[in-house]
Amino acid sequence: MKLRKVTAASAVVLALALSATACGGDKKDDTSGSSSSGGGGGTIKIGIKYDQPGLGLKKPDGTFAGFDVDVATYVAKQLGYDADKIEFVETKSADRENALARGDVKFIAATYSITDERKQKVDFAGPYLLAHQDLLIKTDSTIAKGTDLNGKKLCSVTGSTSAQNVQKTIAPDAKLKKVSSYSECIAALQNGAVDAVTTDDSILAGFASQDQYKGKFKLAGLKLSNENYGVGVKKGDSATVDKINKALEKMVSDGSWQKAVDANFGPANYKNEQAPKIGVIVPNAS
Ligand code: GLU
Repeated sequence: MKLRKVTAASAVVLALALSATACGGDKKDDTSGSSSSGGGGGTIKIGIKYDQPGLGLKKPDGTFAGFDVDVATYVAKQLGYDADKIEFVETKSADRENALARGDVKFIAATYSITDERKQKVDFAGPYLLAHQDLLIKTDSTIAKGTDLNGKKLCSVTGSTSAQNVQKTIAPDAKLKKVSSYSECIAALQNGAVDAVTTDDSILAGFASQDQYKGKFKLAGLKLSNENYGVGVKKGDSATVDKINKALEKMVSDGSWQKAVDANFGPANYKNEQAPKIGVIVPNAS
């Protein structure tokens, strides 16, 4: 009897140990951003922005909206994951390469421009949108071109191409304040701490159309760069890149891409470019 009890207890210990191993197994898979490669009950972690209206936004009720969210959701579905199997993770501009290298997420759809420098560290599917760097200024601002920014206070985000372009080419003598997210820049523009915010026109249009900013801000309308948005994937994961490229092609051909454009950019009155061809990057003038 006593012996039996011990055996039962050992069985419980064994069962616990086994389930702990199983959890460990899940965790290991989770480090590549998904708990099952083919879907079927597993979940997938996807990196997006949380504070960019029209692109990647975490709403007060905890749900997510935006063009990147729709692209991510469509792609996930093609990879075998229904929307309820997606776990969105915030990937700020400066965190994207590391999040992929660490395996925090399976892929990133977060206004992530494809660049040669980034391609040293991550792989990209796409492009799926072509945007352009622009300036957001107060409605009464006299800033009209990139070089007007020299000597002016400008805000952009660490780890973005926008900040890099300002420093290298657009206005090297601007007083650039770098923060971790665009919403911080918008707050700085509103309270007069900076004269302009610079990043992609797609992002700026989303902010400008928010009720609280209507009539206060305008886009300068300068196409200061070409930003080819790609879906970032861990370096070397060419199987996932191929699958995502197929998904993106399908998203365009079945009309879902245009539907997502209309739903997310329509309210901001953002006039986007045509859907890019997969693998075709529009370069920047050098
Ligand atoms: N698309 C640019 C980039 O990847 C600017 C927007 C952003 O920071 O996400 O850096």
